[in-house]
Amino acid sequence: MRIVQKFGGTSVGSLERIKKTAMIVKQSLEAGNEIAVVVSAMSGETNRLIQLAKDMSDEPTPREMDALVATGEQVSAALLAIELQRLGIAAYSFNGAQAGFKTNDSFERASIQTVESDHLIAHMKKGAVPVVTGFQGVDQHGNITTLGRGGSDTSAVALAIAVKADICDIYTDVDGIYTTDPRITNKASKIDHISYEEMLEFASLGAKVLQTRSVGLAMRYNMPIHLRSSFEPDVLGTMVTKEDCQMERAEITGVAYNRDEAKITIQGIPDQPGIAGNVFAPVANAGINVDVIVQNVSEDGFTDLTFTVPRNDFHATIKLLNDLQTSLNARAVIGDDSVAKVSIIGVGMRSHAGVAKKMFQVLANENINIQMITTSEIKVTVVLDEKYVELAVRALHQAFGLDGK
Ligand code: ASP
Ligand code: MG
Repeated sequence: MRIVQKFGGTSVGSLERIKKTAMIVKQSLEAGNEIAVVVSAMSGETNRLIQLAKDMSDEPTPREMDALVATGEQVSAALLAIELQRLGIAAYSFNGAQAGFKTNDSFERASIQTVESDHLIAHMKKGAVPVVTGFQGVDQHGNITTLGRGGSDTSAVALAIAVKADICDIYTDVDGIYTTDPRITNKASKIDHISYEEMLEFASLGAKVLQTRSVGLAMRYNMPIHLRSSFEPDVLGTMVTKEDCQMERAEITGVAYNRDEAKITIQGIPDQPGIAGNVFAPVANAGINVDVIVQNVSEDGFTDLTFTVPRNDFHATIKLLNDLQTSLNARAVIGDDSVAKVSIIGVGMRSHAGVAKKMFQVLANENINIQMITTSEIKVTVVLDEKYVELAVRALHQAFGLDGK
């Protein structure tokens, strides 16, 4: 098999960890596979570099930020190549430009345009191991670019697609995706197999194991991902693939939550065409991501508009809307930054009726008030008071039969 193995920050976090990682590569090579590796920076390193720049200047330019943070991955790639060589393996480190990652010129959030990796394939065919820096590439002018935090997952999937790998193994410090956060209930269990769409929902809800973009990319090119732990390399993790008919279809696959939410309500706004645009255009222009939106039925031509934003953006959003209140003709802007989102996720929802209803009943039985609701084909999300998150997650996990599966 041809495999791209990606190792996250904790898997290259120290010389000890790099040695363990090199052994994983060696074993897969000896099992007869062709291997290319993608690495993150040593854990904590990217944050350290960002802090250095902040200590130097209030406004470091994005170009120099990318030049700076891209060095983290070069250190870990070279160290891993050195260790592989010590074990007698032909290994070569490549930075983003050397590995052929061409990106656009959006510094700090560049997107990959092509990966010109024939030279890497040639190495792999000879049994050598290219060790590629994740997270980075080069734009059309030769500037170093980076892909945004967590971007080495996306590098790994892009490389797997480019070298036509059979699978992309993503090694991290957890052994897969769980039915819910094991810190909330010890009855959570590992999911063996999940579809790209479900994984996208988990990732965008803040399950930080995979960068959301990497899942979208894998889905587009049908690249299987095996999420697994470098601390327990013999344990199978979670396979992320296209939905197949053999997948067991329980009503739901898992329960996710996100505390990073705040809720804002604009009260008494005239219910006229264009009003939602007038509210949300300035919010979007300020770079704030609006998520769940609810508009009430209007009374006497006035309505309330409620929506959620990331908690970090709460104060900025309130300020922005307070400034707009007069021009919007709104009666008041109020907010609550102690709400959270709880979601049930699963492709099984497509074939089981009444899943949403069951969720609402379970929450009602626990006396939890639902503030907002939104659904997609494979997800139902409710917004509730943050203090009920754990209770809600446990109750749903149990009611949908996920306890101790
Ligand atoms: N080192 C980068 C970060 O910390 C990229 C990555 O690890 O995926 O965000
Ligand atoms: Mg990561």
